[in-house]
Amino acid sequence: MVTETPTLVAHSTTTSEPGLFSVAVQQFEIAADVLGLEDSMRRILSHCQRELTVNFPVEMDDGSVQIFTGHRVQHNTGPGPSKGGIRYHQNVSLSEVKALAMWMTWKCAVVELPFGGAKGGVTVNPKLLSQNELQNLTRRYTADISMMIGPNKDIPAPDVNTNPQIMAWLMDTYSMTVGYSVPGVVTGKPLALGGSPGRNEATGRGCVYAIQEAARVRNLNLSSSRTIVQGFGNAGSIAARLMDELGSKVVAVSDSRGGTYNPNGLDLAAVSLHKSRTGSVTGYSEGHDVSNEAILELPCDILIPAALEGQIGGYNAARIQASIIAEAANGPTSPEADAILFDKGVFVLPDIFANAGGVTVSYFEWVQAMQWFPWTLDQVNDRLRQVMSKSFHAVYGISEQHKVHMRTAALVRAIDRVADFTRLRGIYP
Ligand code: NAD
Repeated sequence: MVTETPTLVAHSTTTSEPGLFSVAVQQFEIAADVLGLEDSMRRILSHCQRELTVNFPVEMDDGSVQIFTGHRVQHNTGPGPSKGGIRYHQNVSLSEVKALAMWMTWKCAVVELPFGGAKGGVTVNPKLLSQNELQNLTRRYTADISMMIGPNKDIPAPDVNTNPQIMAWLMDTYSMTVGYSVPGVVTGKPLALGGSPGRNEATGRGCVYAIQEAARVRNLNLSSSRTIVQGFGNAGSIAARLMDELGSKVVAVSDSRGGTYNPNGLDLAAVSLHKSRTGSVTGYSEGHDVSNEAILELPCDILIPAALEGQIGGYNAARIQASIIAEAANGPTSPEADAILFDKGVFVLPDIFANAGGVTVSYFEWVQAMQWFPWTLDQVNDRLRQVMSKSFHAVYGISEQHKVHMRTAALVRAIDRVADFTRLRGIYP
C-alpha cells in the first residue's frame, strides 16, 4: 500500500524540468487533478524509473572515429516489460526521450496492453550516414543499452528514421551476445525474421480506425471529407492512403522539406512516386508547394500531424480549420493549444490513443515471437480494430463524464490503470 510521507528530497513532480518532458508532466498533472490522485502517486508516476545515457564510438567509412550520444529510458515497468521505439534524429535529447517514454506508459495503458513505457534515441542525422555506418551505429548502440533491453525486460521498436532493417540489426546484435536467436527482443522486424503481418501499417491503420470512430460520434461523413497529413513517412503516408481508400479527399501532404497542396485532391500514388524520385513531396507538378507551418492551417475536415512534436501551439491553434485532429505523431500539440482547440470545438484524438495502433501490433508481434506461432494479416487487423474501437469508447465516455477533452480523458484512463498496478504491488521493499 502506498502511503503519504513528508517530502525529504527535492523530487516532487518535475514541472520545472525544461524541454518536452515538462509538457508531458504538465499533461499528467492536469489528468491527475481530474482523478484526484494522491501526492505520493504523483511523485512516483511523474518520474522516469531508469535513464541511461551512452556515449559510444563508431568507425566511419573514411577510417575516422565519431562519438555519438544515445539514451534508453524506462518510465515505468509496473504493468510488465517496458516498450518503446528508437529514434534517430539530430534533435534527440534526454528530455525528449523521457517524455516519449512517459507517453508510452500511458499509451500502453489506454489500450490495455501488459507493458510499461520506454523510449530510446540517438542524436544523429541518419541521412548523413552510409548503410555501413548506420549498421555500425545501431549495433554499438544496441550493445551499449543491452543491459536494459530483453524480451521480458524492455522491447524496442521503430520510430522516426528507424525501420525494419535497423530492428533486424538490433535483434541480431542482442542475439549474438546471448548466444541464441531472440526474436522477442524487438518488434517491427522484417517479416522474414518473425515480424508481424500488418506491423508496418499498424500506426497509420490504427489512426484511421480511430478517425472512423470519431467521425461516427461527430456525424462526419468521411466519404465527403478532406484530409491533410503533415509528415509523409511511415505513419503519415499509410494514414493518407487509408483515408483515400475510405473516400476522403487528401488535399495536402508534407515532409521535412515542405508540402504539396491541391484543393481538388492529390493522387497519392503519383505523389509517392515523385517523392521516391526527388526525395520530397515538394515540387509535385499537380500541387502547389506549401510550408509545414501553412499546411496545418489549410481548409480541411481531418488533420493528421504525423511528423514530429511541437507543431500546434498557442500561436497557431486558433487558425486551425479541421474539425478532427488525429495525432499520428507523438506530442504535436501543446497544453495551451489543447485548451484553445477544445474551446473551438475541435475534436482531438490524442497521440497516446490515436497512434497506439503501432504498439498494439508490436504487442501482437511480441506474442507471436514468444509463442513461435504466427498470425494472419486478417487476425492482426481484426484485433487491432477491436482494440481501437473499445479504447475509443472508453476514452470518449470519460471525456463526456468529466467534460474534459480527449487527451485528458485518455490520460485519466491510463493513469488510473497504472496507479492501480502501483498501489496493488506496493513499494519494494
Ligand atoms: P518516419 O521517419 O517514417 O516519417 C517522418 C516523416 O516526417 C518524414 O516524411 C519526414 O520527412 C517528416 N518530417 C520530419 N520533420 C518534419 C517537419 N518538421 N515537418 C513536416 N514533416 C517532417 O517516422 P514515423 O515512424 O512515421 O513517425 C512519425 C511520427 O509518428 C513520430 O512522431 C513518431 O513518434 C510517431 N509514431 C510512429 C510510430 C510507428 O510505428 N512508426 C508509432 C507511434 C508513433
